[in-house]
Amino acid sequence: MSEQPFIPPAKPIIDEVDIEAAVRVLRSGMVVQGPEVKAFEEEFSAVAGSEHAVAVNSGTSALQLALMALGIGPGDEVIVPSFTFAASGNAIKLVGAEPVFVDIDLDSFCVDPEAVRAAIGPKTAGIMPVHLYGHPAAMTTIMELASTHGLAVVEDAAQAHGAAIGGKPVGGFGSAAAFSFYPTKNMHSLEGGMVTTNDAEVARTIRLLRNQGMEQRYANEIVGVNMRLTDVAAAIGRTQLTRLHEWTERRRAIAARFDAEITSVVVPPVAEGARHVYHQYTVRVENDRDGFQKRLTDAGIGNAVYYPTPVHRLRPYLVDGAPDPRWDLPATEQAAAEVVSIPVHPSLSDADVDRIVAAVNEAGATA
Ligand SMILES: *Cc1c(COP(=O)(O)O)cnc(C)c1O
Repeated sequence: MSEQPFIPPAKPIIDEVDIEAAVRVLRSGMVVQGPEVKAFEEEFSAVAGSEHAVAVNSGTSALQLALMALGIGPGDEVIVPSFTFAASGNAIKLVGAEPVFVDIDLDSFCVDPEAVRAAIGPKTAGIMPVHLYGHPAAMTTIMELASTHGLAVVEDAAQAHGAAIGGKPVGGFGSAAAFSFYPTKNMHSLEGGMVTTNDAEVARTIRLLRNQGMEQRYANEIVGVNMRLTDVAAAIGRTQLTRLHEWTERRRAIAARFDAEITSVVVPPVAEGARHVYHQYTVRVENDRDGFQKRLTDAGIGNAVYYPTPVHRLRPYLVDGAPDPRWDLPATEQAAAEVVSIPVHPSLSDADVDRIVAAVNEAGATA
């Protein structure tokens, strides 16, 4: 075992300023959705370059309400990668639609736009690209396909605050996008989420849906839920947002060192014109991933596999106990078998980065 302290795979940031922001709102006595949520929405829309932003209580809620507001439901199919967090598929199922799983591009770990093209059929209502690990999906082709076929696009931007492609931030391409503010994401509000959209009608419908279908109290217009964000959470989100850019630049600087110095495993390439925000720095280990992970852990370097089981192989997605034979996803299976994410969070010191590089090169060399 290492004498040096363990470097965790992820580290949520809760600084004094976050605590002060929460306490300020708690002391005000006005804690539910109110002025802090409104200010957070206005400030966050700049991150996505979107006209509207609507805060909700989680990233999963953001996905679900975006789909609902776009009218996606029973009888509809939504094209989505299987190599993602279960929330992407769950949101589709929860609105009564069916996910159609497609393969990824092994370089970006994001959906392969040619696989999306091939999957479009008569029931397709939407596409849900996932900007996985902070790498933007191939939005130019995806938006072309959507406009040709009249499909909605819901970006899963839960891991991609501040990512961009072709100079345009994610969250402003599709009909709507969902961000997450879970503690380990690039910024957080303890729990929380945001829908961004350029469509005023979609924004209004989501505002209604998150609050029992009401704009005016007790004048319910539609059937809705309670997926509101608290003002305490929004105040934390606002102070985190002021530091997001600095944290992202630190993540990118650490990633640049990994790109240059890690030689023992496959480092993640960045697509041309893409701004990667490194929610995760994910390498591929082509031989003996278990051994690689054990050697890293023994050297005091936290690491994790996101995600060991593609969504189409998770129990709720099986058909008669087995993956639906319609899904043939070789790059997804390969990624699930080979990926390991190493620490890239902004709290790492330069000395931590030195240790990580050395440990990864050693752990990979013995593979
Ligand atoms: C975290 C995450 C979500 C869900 O966000 P929550 O805030 O945890 O509900 C959705 N999709 C992806 C890809 C995620 O990483």
